[in-house]
Amino acid sequence: MTQAIEQPKTLSTGAALGATFSALRCRECGETYELGAKHVCEDVCFGPLEVVYDYDLIRQRVSRASIEAGPKSIWRYKDFLPVASDNPIDVGTGMTPLLKADRLARRLGLRSLYIKNDAVNMPTLSFKDRVVSIALSRARELGFSTVSCASTGNLANSTAAIAAHAGLDCCVFIPADLEAGKVLGTLIYNPTVMAVKGNYDQVNRLCSEVANTQGWGFVNINLRPYYSEGSKTLGYEVVEQLGWQLPDHIVAPLASGSLFTKIYKGFQEFVKTGLVDAKDVRFSGAQAEGCSPISQAFKEGRDFVTPVKPNTIAKSIAIGNPADGIYALDIARKTNGNIEDVTDAEIIDGIKLLAETEGIFTETAGGTTIAVLKKLVEAGKIDPDETTVAYITGNGLKTQEAVQGYIGEPLTIEPKLDSFERALERARTLERLDWQQTSV
Ligand SMILES: *Cc1c(COP(=O)(O)O)cnc(C)c1O
Ligand SMILES: [Zn+2]
Repeated sequence: MTQAIEQPKTLSTGAALGATFSALRCRECGETYELGAKHVCEDVCFGPLEVVYDYDLIRQRVSRASIEAGPKSIWRYKDFLPVASDNPIDVGTGMTPLLKADRLARRLGLRSLYIKNDAVNMPTLSFKDRVVSIALSRARELGFSTVSCASTGNLANSTAAIAAHAGLDCCVFIPADLEAGKVLGTLIYNPTVMAVKGNYDQVNRLCSEVANTQGWGFVNINLRPYYSEGSKTLGYEVVEQLGWQLPDHIVAPLASGSLFTKIYKGFQEFVKTGLVDAKDVRFSGAQAEGCSPISQAFKEGRDFVTPVKPNTIAKSIAIGNPADGIYALDIARKTNGNIEDVTDAEIIDGIKLLAETEGIFTETAGGTTIAVLKKLVEAGKIDPDETTVAYITGNGLKTQEAVQGYIGEPLTIEPKLDSFERALERARTLERLDWQQTSV
């Protein structure tokens, strides 16, 4: 990739013919902007910019049947997404399983629990593939040839992989102390990787400066209004997979808070366009105690978020200064939900509990979600009869160091029957096996 300052070649910022989106608008003051690579209301109030859609047009165009006939990926919801081209980057992202989690439900004392399993999202096994598929499709439309991101790990994996597929140059920024699996899982796609000696919030600040000097498309900075819309598909899919119904309660992890607010927006848009009947859905958020600025604000009844310095094994959600924190707070409060945090030990237990009951190996963010789910049930904050969806956003193979030392070890044996039988005896005394009744 080139080090020279490059500008987008075919910068197109106006609305495209036939597109369902037409402008960017400030969430705070309502000022509108052209559809360029811009994320803050720089003329007026520095609030965040959002994509403006024509919902009447969307309502005319889409139906349950038209969506069901679409591709088996996030692109079945294309009319709700800020990409104009009929040929977006489709690497099979989305339409991950919604699993009825009966064994976990029984363990927790719930009667109707589902797991939305983005641990198997394509191509890099986290929900970030959703937001990056949108951001890079839009980056290409805006004429960028180099894409970048400030990442807590999963975003770097996604940006590097999908840029490779699309033939875009890629330079990603990560905190230098990330898990080995996340670093390797980025380097394999051969982007330029900048490992910054600092935490995510410092990485992000640096990237904001780089975005201003290099003319690159930063998926979560200057392309953020488009990027963040990808998380809405986590709402759409759950509605469709529940048989075109809203759940009663959702539990999702909070880093910047964006994912949480966009699941909410996705549900609302489906109601607004007549695809699903309205219903009150409770929104509960999960944070790690070692980085819980939104949870602290929630518990203290504040409507502002005080930044913290992260210190937790849940690195993928360790954002100390969350951009969408206040909006996440607002949603949790107005839906009668909660925001809760859990210790690193509880996160490890959460990872193990999900693996042992449902056969899903999630990373630390998913462990946080399961541990918070458990805590909320125990506190009586989730009703056993509520249809509850827990969002599992990443894969455990990427954060192996988190559970190292907290799981069993293989029983090493000779390739001989008596060696096996002795080991089996030992395993039984350790109560590892619960099929002791079976005759040998
Ligand atoms: C990035 C990330 C999140 C949360 O993202 P936000 O939208 O910033 O709140 C959750 N889980 C995983 C695994 C992530 O990588
Ligand atoms: Zn504004």
